[in-house]
Amino acid sequence: MSMPAFGSMMVKPKRKNPVLRTRQMNLPPWGRSRVALGITAAAAEGRFELQVCRDCGAVQYPPREACHVCLSSWLDWREQKGAGTLLATTTLHHSNDLFFRERLPWHLGLVKLDAGPTLMVHLHGEVAAIANASNAALPCKVVVGARLDRAGQAVLIAFPEQGGQPEQGESSMADDKMLREMTCDPKFRKVLVTDGKSAAGQAVVRALAKAGADIIWVGHAEPWIKLPGFDDITALPQVTLVPLDLTNGRSVTELAGEIGGKVDIVINTAEVHRTFGIGARRGTDVARAEMDINYFGLLRLAQEFGPALKGRAADGATSAVAWVNLLSIYALANFPPHGTFSASKAAAYSLSQCLRAEMRPAGIRVINVFPGPIDDEWNQNMPPPKVTPDALANAIVKALRDGVEDVYPGDVAQEWLERWRDNPKVLERELAAGQ
Ligand SMILES: [Zn+2]
Repeated sequence: MSMPAFGSMMVKPKRKNPVLRTRQMNLPPWGRSRVALGITAAAAEGRFELQVCRDCGAVQYPPREACHVCLSSWLDWREQKGAGTLLATTTLHHSNDLFFRERLPWHLGLVKLDAGPTLMVHLHGEVAAIANASNAALPCKVVVGARLDRAGQAVLIAFPEQGGQPEQGESSMADDKMLREMTCDPKFRKVLVTDGKSAAGQAVVRALAKAGADIIWVGHAEPWIKLPGFDDITALPQVTLVPLDLTNGRSVTELAGEIGGKVDIVINTAEVHRTFGIGARRGTDVARAEMDINYFGLLRLAQEFGPALKGRAADGATSAVAWVNLLSIYALANFPPHGTFSASKAAAYSLSQCLRAEMRPAGIRVINVFPGPIDDEWNQNMPPPKVTPDALANAIVKALRDGVEDVYPGDVAQEWLERWRDNPKVLERELAAGQ
């Protein structure tokens, strides 16, 4: 399969020859020490962090247990701007590693960060092109960012200084061959959105169409119910409606049999959300309905579509790449007024970690989305700020483009996350007191 030249806009890849056997996914090396996983933990949420010495301020690289200047053990992970100078470059034409061997030539460089350390980094195609065009181009200013590679481990990449790191949208920056290996850009890919009836599901469909998705299969469980907005998304040329009821194992199996071998990205937007705690309602019917979609629905979907995606992870420029779960910030700590819903999302969160572990060996990224209250009918009584469906959808597309693992859209989610990180027990007490 031909790949776009560096710096040029990606052209739509040719259809795969169905007779050719799909290759097995070879992952980049992924062993890391526990301390080195700090870079990965930050990159999973879209940040570039290095350790900074609390005693002398020295920035550390590679990650270590004690400061390389003063031997202090007080090292804190801090976000880095990444500004630096590219000193030298090299291009790999040979590699003993299977992952790189299949992707040669590969461009590497040596960058001295303004903050201190010197790093070996992967080069974005535009940086490699500048450096290769003329020796006189070096040294030049670059911006280093952290991304997850196909094995889910952090790698460092030098981006051009002008324009910075690729943002959502127009730029051909995201089309870079090396970057596309690291991220899960929906452009030219085939996506299944499991529920197109909800406001969030519809917004996700619109955002995917805007992002250049090739085909968007949209699940609908109850085709006889007409809902506002549904006609608009079904009119989009990329959209094909498919029957999908996550409460029904046979429905999931049938759809997987039909499109499982073609889906590149699964986005599970299906959820049931009622607003009850324990004492406000008798019986378990409502809680079961929530569990049946939010937890068992994910399980049914993962059992049927998971193996299909894993089998197509090495399928060239439009390989299967990602699985997205719409969870909730209530998955981290129970919000008593939405108590049973919180519990179902906590269960789904736990299951998603299992799914992530099982998908990782194939290089399929599992992205968990933890929004605060969404501006929909089930959160009518919640005070603002609420996440609009469009903002949520844009956050999901951005997460795919950036290749992050965990995303917390909206002010409420960000604030909860902060409080949960600071002290989960304190947050539990605050939520119990209605704060
Ligand atoms: Zn120090």
